Amino acid sequence: MTTKLNYEERIRSGIASYVPNPNVLPADEAFQLTPSGPGLVKEAVADWTYFAALLAELFPELAASSGRIDSPLLDAHSDLLSAPGTQAVRIKADHLLPVTGTIKARGGIYEVLVYARKLAQKAGLVAHGESSLVLLDPEVRALFAQHSVVTGSTGNLGYSVGLAARTLGFGAEVHMSADAKAWKIERLRKLGVVVHTHHGDFSAAVGIARDAARATESAYFVDDEDSLALFQGYAAAAWDLAAQLDAAGIEVTAGRPLAVYLPCGVGGAPGGVTFGLKSIWGDHVHCILVEPVAAPAVLVQTLAGSERQVSAYDYGCNNQTIADGLAVPSASRLAIQYISRLAAGFVTVADRELLTWVNRAWKAQSLRLEPSAAAGFAALDLMRSDANGPSWFEAATHIVWTTGGAQLPDAEFAALLR
Ligand SMILES: *Cc1c(COP(=O)(O)O)cnc(C)c1O
Repeated sequence: MTTKLNYEERIRSGIASYVPNPNVLPADEAFQLTPSGPGLVKEAVADWTYFAALLAELFPELAASSGRIDSPLLDAHSDLLSAPGTQAVRIKADHLLPVTGTIKARGGIYEVLVYARKLAQKAGLVAHGESSLVLLDPEVRALFAQHSVVTGSTGNLGYSVGLAARTLGFGAEVHMSADAKAWKIERLRKLGVVVHTHHGDFSAAVGIARDAARATESAYFVDDEDSLALFQGYAAAAWDLAAQLDAAGIEVTAGRPLAVYLPCGVGGAPGGVTFGLKSIWGDHVHCILVEPVAAPAVLVQTLAGSERQVSAYDYGCNNQTIADGLAVPSASRLAIQYISRLAAGFVTVADRELLTWVNRAWKAQSLRLEPSAAAGFAALDLMRSDANGPSWFEAATHIVWTTGGAQLPDAEFAALLR
């Protein structure tokens, strides 16, 4: 109890910290308490395989990967960040993800595809076992044109959802919070997405988007605070990583566990990836969710337990952060149900650390990251100097997940480097 209060005090004071998850359980026990089991991940992996033909057709840049949306696994240069052990730190470079350049491609595009297939199936336009290319048929497109996809976003989810929806022929509407970047809004409008900006924070924007979608029968709502499909789309990333580790000859064992550092907003993307990783490696993988000191939504909800809903504001945090992708006061209810006992712990990081790591990643090895995406580096660095760190830390293979930034406009990126 004392330690818990201690952590709460650190959160209230905005001190960057490593906070072990007090609710973590052995993976097999944790999975018994999740609403569904690892079958969710297998389903998503199969769906991505099904949709690959369609994706390769819709997005020419995916022709080379036969329609797979995945990123490279890189070695961090030793002058960027050296590991506590003998191996290089690895970077799961989702900032380079094709199509939208952020991890939201995994969740957002997946949910739109699954919705599109369901709609076409309901209309009797897709036969069982038929290729996903059928979703390009003029008849199907005409059906999609009568429907729209709505979401609330700080920017990146809106782009992945909006782009996928518009490319398939849907209407699209995105509700953005005050912290949304102007270029992210402009980029959506160019796609023909209807963009509404609201004065409040992200949770307020999501609430407005949800109401707007409910009021329209032909609208489908991608709910960042409560979506199983988003979660599944992200979770499939674990299988991509497993194949890459395999190819690199990196084994994951009790003696050489995996430590993965995941930038965290509402918890959907890092939570989905955590769920997927734990379903593959169980107790041999440790996932650290990284949040801004000003917006530790998932950390405070995890500490508070599932009985009552809390927000970062309740802990004196103001949600003001340069990490626009992580600037959310409240966690996804769904993500919390799935990961509150699976996540190993949390790290909170200050904005100036994020900027430092954006700079370092660029100078050391030309990684073009947005501040949100650099959070994993800051977290690993903080944990290296924490004397009260976890017992698995020294022996682990460390993977920093970089979640977005390759598509930042030059002027935006130059401003971050200054
Ligand atoms: C959205 C986002 C995250 C976190 O995802 P959540 O599902 O909100 O937790 C991390 N990094 C970037 C760049 C993002 O856009």
